[in-house]
Amino acid sequence: MNTTPTRLLIHGASGRMGQALLRLAAEDSSLQVVAAVVRKPPIQRVIDGIPHFAASELAGAPAFDVAIDFSLPEGFDPILALCAERGVGLVSGTTGISDQQQAALTAAAARIPLVWATNFSLGVAVLAELVERAAAALPGWDCDIVESHHVHKKDAPSGTALTLGESALHGGAEPRYASLRAGDIIGEHFVQFTGLGERVELVHRATNRDIFARGALHAAKQLRQRAPGQYRVRDLLGNVIEA
Ligand code: NAD
Repeated sequence: MNTTPTRLLIHGASGRMGQALLRLAAEDSSLQVVAAVVRKPPIQRVIDGIPHFAASELAGAPAFDVAIDFSLPEGFDPILALCAERGVGLVSGTTGISDQQQAALTAAAARIPLVWATNFSLGVAVLAELVERAAAALPGWDCDIVESHHVHKKDAPSGTALTLGESALHGGAEPRYASLRAGDIIGEHFVQFTGLGERVELVHRATNRDIFARGALHAAKQLRQRAPGQYRVRDLLGNVIEA
C-alpha cells in the first residue's frame, strides 16, 4: 500500500468542477495537487501554492500520478495523450465526447488505468441499476428521461441522461429524451415509465456539485493502485456503495 500522497494534475481547473476539485483536494492530506491546467495562459502562475499551466503548456507539467479532467471535449485529446505517454492514470468526467474520442479512450486503456464517466455520484450509480431493473420488469411501457441543468451546460441530452438511457436499453425499454436548461440547476434526472393507467417515476437531484468532485477524487486514489484497463465508477466506488 502506497502511503505517499497521490499527486494530481487537475485539467479544467478554473471551471465549476475544477474549483470544487481544488478546494476538496486541499482538505485531504492523502492528495497533492501538483498542477492545475486552464484553457488560456493564467494571469497568476501560482495560486495557493499550486502551479498553473495553460492547455498549450501541458507537455511541461511536472510528474503526477493521476490526472483528473473535467473540461470540454476539445480539451480531452491532449490530456488523454499526455497520460498515455507518461503511463499514468486518468479520471475524466468530461461529457459530450465523440465516438472517436471514446475509441481513443478504449485504446489507451491497454496502457493505462482510466475511468471516464458521465456522473461520479453514488446516487446516479444506484439509479442506473434501478432503471435497468424497472425497464426489465415493465416490458412495453413507455420510458422517458427528462434532464434539467443550468443554462451554461453545453451538451444535451446530458451525458448522465444517455448513461441512464443505456441502462434502460439493457433492460429492454426504448428511452426518449427531453432536456431543460434553466437557472443554476446543478443536475436533475427524472426517468418515467408509463403504462396504461399507471406510472413509475425515478428521480435523482444533485443539490451540490461536490458529490461529483468527491467521487472523482476517490476514483483517482483507487486508480493509482490499479493495472491498465477501463474501469467503471462502480468498480472504483464499490467500497463506498457497499458501505
Ligand atoms: P466549466 O465550463 O465551468 O469549466 C470548463 C473548464 O475546462 C474550464 O476550466 C476551462 O478553462 C477548461 N477548458 C475548456 N477548454 C479547454 C481546453 N481545450 N483545454 C483545457 N481546458 C479547457 O464546466 P464545468 O461545469 O466545470 O464542467 C466541466 C465538464 O464536466 C463538462 O463536460 C460537464 O458536462 C462535466 N461534468 C461532469 C460531471 C460528472 O460527474 N461526470 C459532473 C459535472 C460536470
